[in-house]
Amino acid sequence: MHCPFCTTQETKVIDSRLVAGGHQIRRRRECSACHERFTTFEIAELVMPRIVKRDGKREPFDEEKLRSGMLRALEKRPVNTENIEKSVNAIKSALRATGEREVSSEMAGNLIMAALKELDKVAYIRFASVYRSFEDIKEFGEEIARLGD
Ligand SMILES: [Zn+2]
Repeated sequence: MHCPFCTTQETKVIDSRLVAGGHQIRRRRECSACHERFTTFEIAELVMPRIVKRDGKREPFDEEKLRSGMLRALEKRPVNTENIEKSVNAIKSALRATGEREVSSEMAGNLIMAALKELDKVAYIRFASVYRSFEDIKEFGEEIARLGD
C-alpha cells in the first residue's frame, strides 16, 4: 500500500473495521515516512462456496435465487425490504464463514429457514413446507406448534 502523499510503501494500519454490512474493510493507515494518515476501503475477496445438491450436482451460489426464494415465501407479508436484505447478507456471511469450498444445499436451506423464522413465522412455514416437504401432516403440525415457544 503506497502512501498517497509521499508514495512510500511502508504504512501501518491504525484502525480496521468492517463496513457495508461486513463486505468492506475500512482501514485507517499512517505512513511510516511522512506520518500522514489516510483511509482505504478494501473489499473482502472471500469466495462463496458452491452448493452441493442432494443428487450430488454442484452449482455456483446464486444470490438472486436465494433472494427470490425468500421473497416468494414472504409474498404479501409485512416485512420490510431492508430486513430482507440484511437476512440475505447474513446468510451469505454465514456461508462464507464456513471457510468451505462446498456446502450442502441442506445447510443453505437451514440457514434460509432460520432467517425466515426470525423475519416472519408465516413465511417460515411456507418455505419449510416446500423445502422440507414434510413427511406427514403430523410433523408439519409439530413444527407449527414449536413456533409458539
Ligand atoms: Zn507518506
